[in-house]
Amino acid sequence: MTSIISTTTASLLALSLLGCSSPQIENSDPTAVQLDNVHQHIKVLASDEFGGRGPLTAGETLTINYLAQQYKALGLIGADAGRFLQPVTMAKLTPDQNMTLNIGELKFKSGRDFTVRTQQLKSKVSLNNSELIFVGYGINAPEYQWNDYADIDVKGKTLVMLVNDPGFSTQNDQLFTGNAMTYYGRWTYKYEEAARQGAAAVLIVHETVPAAYPWSVVESSNTGSKYTLIDDDNNSSQLPMMGWLHIDATEQVFKAAGLNYRQLKQQALSPDFKAQSLKLMANVTLNNEITHAKSHNVLAQLTGSEFPDEYIIISAHWDHFGTKQTATGPKIYNGAIDNATGSAATVEIARILSQLHQIKPFKRSIVFANFTAEETGLIGSQLFAEGGVIATNKMVALLNIDGMNALDGVDYILQYGKGLSEMENYLAQAAAKQQRMVKMDPRPQNGLFFRSDHFSLAKQGVPSLLFMSLGDTDPEYITHRYHKEADDYSPLWSLGGVKQDIELIVDIATKLANNNDWPKWLADSDFKKRRQQDRR
Ligand SMILES: [Zn+2]
Repeated sequence: MTSIISTTTASLLALSLLGCSSPQIENSDPTAVQLDNVHQHIKVLASDEFGGRGPLTAGETLTINYLAQQYKALGLIGADAGRFLQPVTMAKLTPDQNMTLNIGELKFKSGRDFTVRTQQLKSKVSLNNSELIFVGYGINAPEYQWNDYADIDVKGKTLVMLVNDPGFSTQNDQLFTGNAMTYYGRWTYKYEEAARQGAAAVLIVHETVPAAYPWSVVESSNTGSKYTLIDDDNNSSQLPMMGWLHIDATEQVFKAAGLNYRQLKQQALSPDFKAQSLKLMANVTLNNEITHAKSHNVLAQLTGSEFPDEYIIISAHWDHFGTKQTATGPKIYNGAIDNATGSAATVEIARILSQLHQIKPFKRSIVFANFTAEETGLIGSQLFAEGGVIATNKMVALLNIDGMNALDGVDYILQYGKGLSEMENYLAQAAAKQQRMVKMDPRPQNGLFFRSDHFSLAKQGVPSLLFMSLGDTDPEYITHRYHKEADDYSPLWSLGGVKQDIELIVDIATKLANNNDWPKWLADSDFKKRRQQDRR
């Protein structure tokens, strides 16, 4: 069973027309997935020599050169004006953790009780007697008739808000999307909206269930160095101070304000909720060390024959966490599944599609994108989504791979998000050809749709599909290896799951590269609005 029956037939035809004959045509079909190639790519990318593929390390140089070399050998051209490497200039911000947050008489310790950081390129950001306001979930969502910012001026204020969204908190399908997280539930949205409202700072109250991770994750991912892109204005439109507040600290603050946190949290579940001042002032000074650094996206292209300036993008981030020095020696985070599998797959897909392109050229162009710094905040894809290499209104769709099923094939494929865009029709058709069921993301509350590179493109209106089957077939992986040192390569993997997903992606890409369709967003959303403006 294969999803490329028609193309296989086409290549057989082409071979016979050329007078070729082969006794083992199935094995030598150059358009079939060759798992030996995939094994080899994963083995190299996830080797200790590559050091866990940390951006800006020697591992980056090895990784981007390896990928560029593979594409070049396949006859692809660099997609950034002929270059395979798109420079990604980032700032590295390291907040000095020796800081205290004072709220009224209370004093809080960084890391233990709260975290704050900034993406503004400033060596010092302060809150000086900034009034604390509780704004519920901090959501302004006209399509859900919800505005936590109604009738309140929050300019220069410090906003305390709840994590996730009211739908998750009530498990009520009539509120937002019930258990499934909306973008309004993500911390990224909360900081973005607060910045639009002119706030000085946000402290998101951490609670483990709605956040989907414990405080230790908040602490470890917000107290060290972070990378950010740099805009023309040194990121001054970003929220000055992005923070989290531990639940124990939160309860102390509300108590000091003479308020009951649990009660207010309950009130915040109503659309009639009104933001409320805590009548307490926040003071803190954040000192930053700022350095500049250059990383790279790898971009390779097959040029379309009829509509060369219309693009199908196939992506997978190349980076992982690199090597961490510990008391017991260096720990290498090889990221074999996450995302050496995806990077290996983009190269194998490029090989298959370049073969098909030789047999019968695609009408539209196909770009293979291996993004940098996904793990530190979707940074490489965010730069790509700014349209400097390809304008976003020329991007037809994106197929993003992040973590594959290295074990045997399965009779289903996971879909992330429901009713989002017409790309779901392409997924359904391609899956049906493989006799696979489309199964909804089993953990929609984790908001995975917002947590990989396709989301950077979605924000700019480009519809996409996420292929993330890691862990679903192998729960042991999520518990013991995901984002851990143990995410290692195994030569014993059957790669059956990788094979079937590669075939499925080849099928969808082939279809999109040969038709005139511009898949649309379905549900009303900022993505849909953005696309309508962009395509006008
Ligand atoms: Zn990943």
